[in-house]
Amino acid sequence: HIRPLIGDEKLQGCKDCVTVVPNKPQVQIGSHSFTFDHVYGNSASPSSSMFEECAAPLVDGLFQGYNATVLAYGQTGSGKTYTMGTGYRDGCQTGITPQVMNALFNKIETLKHEVEFQLHVSFIEILKEEVRDLLDVASVNKSETANGHAGKVTVPGKPPIQIRETSNGVITLAGSTEVAVSSLKEMAACLEQGSFNRATGSTNMNNQSSRSHAIFTITLEQMRKIGTVRPGESSPVDDMSEEYLCAKLHLVDLAGSERAKRTGSDGLRFKEGVHINKGLLALGNVISALGDEKKRKEGAHVPYRDSKLTRLLQDSLGGNSRTVMIACISPADINVEETLNTLKYANRARNIQNKPIVNRDPISNEMKKMRQQLEYLQAELLCARGGGSSTDEVQVLKERIAWLEANNANLCRELHEYRSRCSAVDQCETDSQEDGNCFMKSDGLKRGLERLDSSDYPMNEIITGDSSKEIDEEVAKEWEHTLLQNTMDRELNELNKRLEQKETEMKSFGGSDAVALKQHFGRKITELEDEKRIVKQERDRLLAEVESLAATSDGHTQKMQDVHSQKLKALESQISDLKKKQESQLRKEGRRNEYERHKLQSLNQRQKLVLQRKTEEAAMATKRLSSQVVST
Ligand code: ADP
Ligand code: MG
Repeated sequence: HIRPLIGDEKLQGCKDCVTVVPNKPQVQIGSHSFTFDHVYGNSASPSSSMFEECAAPLVDGLFQGYNATVLAYGQTGSGKTYTMGTGYRDGCQTGITPQVMNALFNKIETLKHEVEFQLHVSFIEILKEEVRDLLDVASVNKSETANGHAGKVTVPGKPPIQIRETSNGVITLAGSTEVAVSSLKEMAACLEQGSFNRATGSTNMNNQSSRSHAIFTITLEQMRKIGTVRPGESSPVDDMSEEYLCAKLHLVDLAGSERAKRTGSDGLRFKEGVHINKGLLALGNVISALGDEKKRKEGAHVPYRDSKLTRLLQDSLGGNSRTVMIACISPADINVEETLNTLKYANRARNIQNKPIVNRDPISNEMKKMRQQLEYLQAELLCARGGGSSTDEVQVLKERIAWLEANNANLCRELHEYRSRCSAVDQCETDSQEDGNCFMKSDGLKRGLERLDSSDYPMNEIITGDSSKEIDEEVAKEWEHTLLQNTMDRELNELNKRLEQKETEMKSFGGSDAVALKQHFGRKITELEDEKRIVKQERDRLLAEVESLAATSDGHTQKMQDVHSQKLKALESQISDLKKKQESQLRKEGRRNEYERHKLQSLNQRQKLVLQRKTEEAAMATKRLSSQVVST
């Protein structure tokens, strides 16, 4: 911001040494050229557009929860106070601060129906590393009594203002006056009062103000009114979607940046100058640390704590704030050295990258959580009352009932099937006593016994005694066992037949040689073994069927089934013993035939006798056991 030449400079015959490059935010002083975001004054953009372009976006940001800072930097008399508008001038509207206040209240006016606002202002001055409360009259008066010199700004009973950092890194001023304001008028009054206090803090107005940093802070708190709809807006603006937001705007009128040598006339003034520059020196170091990309990447130390100013503006510099720095310069050639310093300083500051974030309050987070919980509970209540979602539940239950009913029908059908099968078995038993052939009457079992020629084995011999109609399934099992026994018997009979066949063959083979005989017997044995395997498979299949039947019946039947199975196993082992004996006999016979062909006849005869006896024994055992089964 280039101010025009003022009366004093004109009187001194100073020349304008600052050139603005047309249509570019660029200034030239001699061979030096500086480019900024904006250049105002002189032949550049009019000063009046500065607020709209630089400060208005920050005011908007406040409503979104972003902190903001506007700093005015420059040598004494360069126009900082004029630019910031923080000087006590009744009704003056040209500076940034009055325009900020106007914009703020205009926006509040448009939003006040949906949002609850709370505004606070504080106005402090940092003079010689002491914080003065410009809104506390007592503090100012105390300072005044020190005859404009470095009097302690503490008041009895009131602790001095301290810069504190909260646990979440927020810098606060403890002990400073925070005035709650609800109107533009009230806020303007605070600004005026503070400006006045600052001005009267010294007998020499210019000297005092040039040595101190003045910070006017506006704190904006917003609470969205629940249940309101903003007219004419479909999607909520991000600032409004939050319940609570808090943002601060610092308007900083810095002390004169000129070097100490220029300030001092007497020793005391020089000392003050050094003191004042402490804040600016620290600010310079902070800016340099933040503005140097290399240093920043290395995570270099930023000396915020070197001064109260930098400590207080920690967030504004490289932190959580949108910050605008206005370099104020005089165009006069006599100030060219300071002007160049200011522009260099500003150039470095331009490199700083801040990280502004929306300032949500912990209360806001808590409220968010509570609202979620409330929604959840409301949904639950709706469910409990049989609201919306319970219809789906009923549908699911209906489907389940239908499925269970279908299942039940299936099971009933199955039960009925088993019952009818059992009664068929009963019928079969009765029938078999009459004609001895019942296989065709039981469909379920027919398949398993297709290969059996029942006519060979009269059933009436096996099925004896009264069948108990009460325990149908048990009877069915018994019947199956009997059939199995029949199969075994038939197998045995088959073997006997084959033995006979073999005997006749032996007779016919009477004259052939030993090798041929051996081959013949080997073939026969293989055939027998194959036959045996088939019969065994048949038996296994039947057993499996019996087992599956047992699985579907109740516990009592299961017990009976177990008993029967054991008996059946005993029978089977007996039969298998017989078969083994028979086979070994066959082999033995084969061997003998090889060597003693002439003795074959007599041996076969003996063998036959043995087998016949064994067969008889087996038949007897079978009969005995089956009668036992039936009686059980
Ligand atoms: P600083 O605060 O930097 O010491 P001031 O704001 O007090 O400087 O300005 C010094 C003088 O210059 C004041 O009289 C002020 O009215 C005048 N001045 C500053 N800037 C401008 C400007 N842009 N237009 C007109 N006068 C200005
Ligand atoms: Mg000033």
